[in-house]
Amino acid sequence: MTDTFPALVIREGDDGPTSTIEQLTDADLPDGDVVVDVDYSSLNYKDGMALLGQGRIVRSFPMVPGIDLTGTVATSASDRFSPGDAVILTGWGAGERYWGGYAARQAVRAEWLVRRPDEMSAQTAMSIGTAGLTAMLCVLALDEGGLKPEDGPVLVTGSAGGVGSVAVALLAARGFEVTAVTGRPEHHDYLRSLGASDFRERAEMAEKPKPLEKETWAGAVDTVGSTMLAKVLAQTAYGGTVAACGLAGGVDLPSTVMPFILRGVRLQGVDSVQAPVAAREAAWSALASELSAEMLESMTTVVPLSEIADHAQPILDGQVRGRTVVDPRR
Ligand code: NDP
Repeated sequence: MTDTFPALVIREGDDGPTSTIEQLTDADLPDGDVVVDVDYSSLNYKDGMALLGQGRIVRSFPMVPGIDLTGTVATSASDRFSPGDAVILTGWGAGERYWGGYAARQAVRAEWLVRRPDEMSAQTAMSIGTAGLTAMLCVLALDEGGLKPEDGPVLVTGSAGGVGSVAVALLAARGFEVTAVTGRPEHHDYLRSLGASDFRERAEMAEKPKPLEKETWAGAVDTVGSTMLAKVLAQTAYGGTVAACGLAGGVDLPSTVMPFILRGVRLQGVDSVQAPVAAREAAWSALASELSAEMLESMTTVVPLSEIADHAQPILDGQVRGRTVVDPRR
């Protein structure tokens, strides 16, 4: 008898895309030189869009969504990986153009994979996932901008979300005084437990800014974009760096050049999808040493694959707290 495994498959129907859990066999898997037995995937903003058919995230059908996965190599035609290796895949178009992590088994390309750090469990790796990797790439961008804890407070927007939560924890662990922007004051205690020491209201920070406002932040991680990023730039102190990675509040940037030309503010874009392997390996290694597994667990909810579709709208509505890990076998 051929072994089957569960996968969430999005198919295009007459009334638009529909997603169902199907039982697949290895013969159904796409081309890929490494076959991975998937331990966990995760839910990111983009996965929510894919599950609900928004934003043209899914480029071809049928599609197995899930932009992240971690697991153990089952077979490998690449000399970089052997059966039994623990690996992580984030981005590179998985779950968008190529089949992704919402399956108990997946065939992928060796060049997309990084090794899971020895001391990191599969669940911890997916508590981090694309969101945590992006948060670390933002923190490393601030570091490259020369930002130091003694320069003053730093701001994290969309702080109760996945990227924001990890960014708060990472910056606090590095000794920064972290102010968290959130539209959900009920999560202040949670954010305090991650290391935030002060808060700003989402509504206040989403107001249209003046070209320059009081110099308040030595640096910032922005996951929201639009007027909030403009506000952050207007409030960034002389010589500060802002790492921008998200668009939870919109894709526009209604700002002026004033923060750049009068205060030398640096705006650094951050992309995790096509980030080179060397940058990923450096980020995963730093994530393994700087984040405690207990803290990550406190910000994580594990859900079975069979229930993941119910979590799609909440993440797009900004209602998910921290990170959601997906168990593909349940
Ligand atoms: P989440 O939904 O987990 O977090 C986003 C947070 O933003 C929400 O929790 C909420 O936080 C806040 N928010 C939501 N809607 C609005 C709004 N209309 N205005 C202002 N704030 C809002 O998503 P992720 O953390 O996974 O992703 C965050 C962003 O980063 C997304 O836009 C995503 O596409 C992007 N991203 C980019 C990557 C890259 O490589 N550049 C990789 C990963 C993500 P609160 O309730 O605390 O205010």
